[in-house]
Amino acid sequence: MLRRSNKRKFSKKELRAQRKHDTDTPTEVVSVPAKTRSQVKIEIPRLITVAELANLSSRTPAEIVGALMRNGVLATVNDSIDRETVEIIADELDLEIHAESQVVPSMQKISGKAQSETRPPVVVVMGHVDHGKTTLLDAIRKTNTVASEAGGITQHIGAYQVQWTDNQDQIRPITFIDTPGHEAFSAMRAHGATITDVAILVVAADDGVKPQTKEAMSHAKAANIPIIIALNKIDKKEANPDRVKGELAELGLAPEDWGGKTPLVRISAKHSQGIDDLLDVVLLVADLQDLRAQTQGQAEGIVIEANKQQGVGPVATVLVQSGELKIGDAIVLGPIFGKIRVMENERGQRYTKAGPSTPVRIAGLSGVPAFGEHLKVCQNEKEARQLAQKAGLKKRLKHVTHQSQETEKERSLAIIVKADVDGSLKAIKTSLEAIEIPDVEVKVILEGVGDVTESDINIGTSLGQPYIVAFRTGATVAARHLARTNNIEIHSYDVIYRLIEDVQKSAEHLHLPIQILTEIGRLKVLKIFRTTKTHQILGGRIEQGRIVKSARVTILREKEILGTGIIESVQKGQEAVAELHAGEECGLGISTTETIQIDDVLVIELAEKA
Ligand code: GDP
Repeated sequence: MLRRSNKRKFSKKELRAQRKHDTDTPTEVVSVPAKTRSQVKIEIPRLITVAELANLSSRTPAEIVGALMRNGVLATVNDSIDRETVEIIADELDLEIHAESQVVPSMQKISGKAQSETRPPVVVVMGHVDHGKTTLLDAIRKTNTVASEAGGITQHIGAYQVQWTDNQDQIRPITFIDTPGHEAFSAMRAHGATITDVAILVVAADDGVKPQTKEAMSHAKAANIPIIIALNKIDKKEANPDRVKGELAELGLAPEDWGGKTPLVRISAKHSQGIDDLLDVVLLVADLQDLRAQTQGQAEGIVIEANKQQGVGPVATVLVQSGELKIGDAIVLGPIFGKIRVMENERGQRYTKAGPSTPVRIAGLSGVPAFGEHLKVCQNEKEARQLAQKAGLKKRLKHVTHQSQETEKERSLAIIVKADVDGSLKAIKTSLEAIEIPDVEVKVILEGVGDVTESDINIGTSLGQPYIVAFRTGATVAARHLARTNNIEIHSYDVIYRLIEDVQKSAEHLHLPIQILTEIGRLKVLKIFRTTKTHQILGGRIEQGRIVKSARVTILREKEILGTGIIESVQKGQEAVAELHAGEECGLGISTTETIQIDDVLVIELAEKA
């Protein structure tokens, strides 16, 4: 049911009651006599077996297994579950959970010897298309002072590091995110991570400030990272640095020689001119931020690129954020786990360990992790596997927990506006900011000219449920797809007052609705007809309940959650239908980024309306 909450936060119990799983989930084999139990306070460690939990809580193992099942976790008596999973079933079993005092296994290695040391800056290169981002990234790579040492052919692994000798003759590493544009950057923010410390904004001296220059600036400002302007193509006779500086000043990026604060370096990426100065300025700006990280202990990092490689399997480029990542480490990356078999840089040079701000490509993973996924080192592979399984479950519950947390925050409606021209953009922004509703803040978090892009949606989802506006403009195919998989609507308008009216209504209806998904049926996959990166056409049999078009699906493989998707079409024979029931066979079009296989089970879920 779709509930609009006012001030009150729903308890986990209420949310669970709304899910109504207990009426139609066949896996429920244990009934829990809730009223006859008394509440038990227990201290539990980070990981605990079902049997130990039963012992500690004076519940039977069957009660615990049953409660776990009802929440989508399949565990036997000897399986370990972590504290967060116990928290999910705590209300149901009337348990009050406390973390076991003084047991912090993952921190043991750090304590006592914890050290915070200066770390290299992580730099992203952004700017308008064709202004020279790729050329600059290549020029910087070639500038590497020790690049001549051994190493194979350079591969694009999403990031690279150069060893730059600074003014004091110190060799200082600088890490570059090797994905031009802001896609990488915004996807990263979608996972709540700001991994970059400095943004180089490339502006072609012959072309000046363009829509994507402004957009890139908004991204950097939203992430609160300093901007350095690389005024590129100064070798061209059409170059007009003064005009561009004027345009930058209008954007609030006045360079230092125009009385502003933004460092600007004149470069020619094509002729490798000015690169030295640019790198010096990067270090100066980085030093002002005093970038530090723990250099010892178990590593934490973030995935900046991942794919499947023939003969190697899944590989991921990870940027280490703290601690030391080592060969043989058992790791978890969201729903993926593994043990690091190989660790190398973009030139194929092998590492046995890697410290903060180092990008490394790793192999030895159970699957391809998502861009922006967090990497954590675990005690052993078993723990890594268990945490990965739990992350799969969490993914499924995310929409509930995330939104219930939202109710605690100050009410605000985040708006992303894309418009056809600058003029309408300004008019919309002024009108939106004039909306006054008590206790509600209407905030334009991102604005730009042009279509709604994937990165707009990514930025939006990083901030919850944004209101996305396309004013007399469209949305790219990728953006539409991403919006659909994230259950976000792109609102199109060609009249400003309608836009304002709708936003006003949404703001009045705050807080955002809590979406409760209820299982309505299950389908077994019997045939796969077509698979693309984002879509699958398959055939299956409805084993329970019903399926309806537009419902959400959770994909189960051997009882483990693989991911989610959305039913785009339902077909009975040649005919497209809206709904089908148990016993029937049908064809389905699913929008998903997972690869569904024969024998997978699709759990069909609907958000119910209050
Ligand atoms: P991106 O789209 O921002 O990655 O731009 P590219 O790096 O692909 O560059 C676009 C075009 O501009 C290419 O033809 C480059 O050769 C050219 N270019 C890049 N930097 C310079 C420069 O400093 N001077 C000149 N004359 N051309 C450049």
